[in-house]
Amino acid sequence: MLQPSDKALVPFVSVDHMMKLIHHVGLEEMIVGIAAEIERDFKRWESFDKTPRVPAHSPHGVIELMPTSDGEAYGFKYVNGHPKNTSEGLQTVTAFGLLADVYTGYPTLLTEMTILTALRTAATSALVGKYLAPKGTTTMAMIGNGAQSEFQCLAFKALCGIDTVRLYDTDPAATAKCAANLAGKGLTVVSCKTGEDAIEGAQIITTCTADKKYATILTDNMVGPGVHINAIGGDCPGKTELHRDILLRSEIFVEYPEQTRIEGEIQALDDDHPVIEMWQVMTGQVEGRKDDRQITLFDSVGFAIEDFSALRYVKLAIEGTDYFEPLDMLADPDDPRDLFGMVQRAK
Ligand code: NAD
Repeated sequence: MLQPSDKALVPFVSVDHMMKLIHHVGLEEMIVGIAAEIERDFKRWESFDKTPRVPAHSPHGVIELMPTSDGEAYGFKYVNGHPKNTSEGLQTVTAFGLLADVYTGYPTLLTEMTILTALRTAATSALVGKYLAPKGTTTMAMIGNGAQSEFQCLAFKALCGIDTVRLYDTDPAATAKCAANLAGKGLTVVSCKTGEDAIEGAQIITTCTADKKYATILTDNMVGPGVHINAIGGDCPGKTELHRDILLRSEIFVEYPEQTRIEGEIQALDDDHPVIEMWQVMTGQVEGRKDDRQITLFDSVGFAIEDFSALRYVKLAIEGTDYFEPLDMLADPDDPRDLFGMVQRAK
C-alpha cells in the first residue's frame, strides 16, 4: 500500500482496477456517489478555475484537454471523440485523467477515464434530471444505444426512480446489445424500431448519438409539453442532435455557458440566447422546472468540474484497497538538486 512518504509514487488505476472497483462498490452505488461529489462541487462553483476545454480538431475527430482546479487540487482529463472509430472496432470516446496537489504540484492520482467518463456523464445527467424532470417520471426514451447508454439508463433508475426505458438506435445490433446488458437490472426494457416509437409515453428523452455533423435526432413535432430532454451527444462544433425549433420552445440548462455556446445544441442559437447554469439551480438561486407543461432541455457537453469530482471520488474510493498500483512516474532524487547524480548512479 502507498504511504504518504511515497509522494513520488503515483497511484495508478488501470482499466482492470477500475472494473474491479466498480464491482466492489456496485455500479449504481458508484454513480450515486459520483453524483454526490458533482453536486457538492457545483454548489461551490465559484471556488473553481474554469475554462472551456482545449480542443485539437481533425477531419477524423477531436482530442481535448479539460483542466480545472479548486485551489487545493488540480485535475485534467485527456479525452477524444471519434465517431468513425466504432466502424474500425475502436471506441468513439476514450480518456484518462490526473489529479495533482496544488501545494507541491505532484500528481496524486492517474487513472483510466473511459469507463469513469461514462459513470460521470451518467451521474451528471441523472443529477440534473433530479432537478428538472417532471414529478412522477417513470419512463425514459434512450436514443443512441452505444457505449454510454446502459450507464445513462441505470443512473436515471438510481437517481430519478425511472422503471422503464424505451431504446432506439439506427443500428438494431446496438439496441439488442443494450437490451441484453440491461436484462435483470430492475428496468422494463422496450426495444423500439423508430425514434417516434421510443419517445411514446416517455417523460425523459435522452439523446446520445455520435455523428460528426448537424443531425436531427429529434424533430419539433416529436417533443410534447412537459418532457425533460437530456441531450448528451451534441458536444462539439458542428455536431448537434436537436432541431432548432425545439430549442426555441425549451428552457435551456447548461453546465458552463462559455463552453456550451461553442460545443452544445445552442450553437444553433444567437450568442445572447438566455440559458440557465445548473450550479445556480443546485444552489437554489434560480428556479429549475417551473410547471408540468414546460419543456426543459439539459444541453450537456461535459465539463471539467465533473471529471474533477469523479477523480476525487476515485482517489478516496481506492484508499485501503488493492485497486491501484504505485507508478514510478516522478523522478525524485534524495537531493532534489542532484537529478544528474541520480541518473549517473543508475548505471
Ligand atoms: P457510441 O459510438 O458508442 O454510440 C453512439 C450510438 O449512436 C451508436 O450505436 C450509433 O449507431 C447511434 N446513432 C448514430 N446516429 C443515430 C441516429 N441518427 N439515431 C439513433 N442512433 C444513432 O458513442 P458513445 O460513447 O455512446 O457516445 C455517444 C455520444 O455522446 C458521442 O457523441 C459522445 O461524444 C457524446 N458524449 C457526451 C458526453 C457529455 O458529457 N455530454 C460524455 C460522453 C460522450
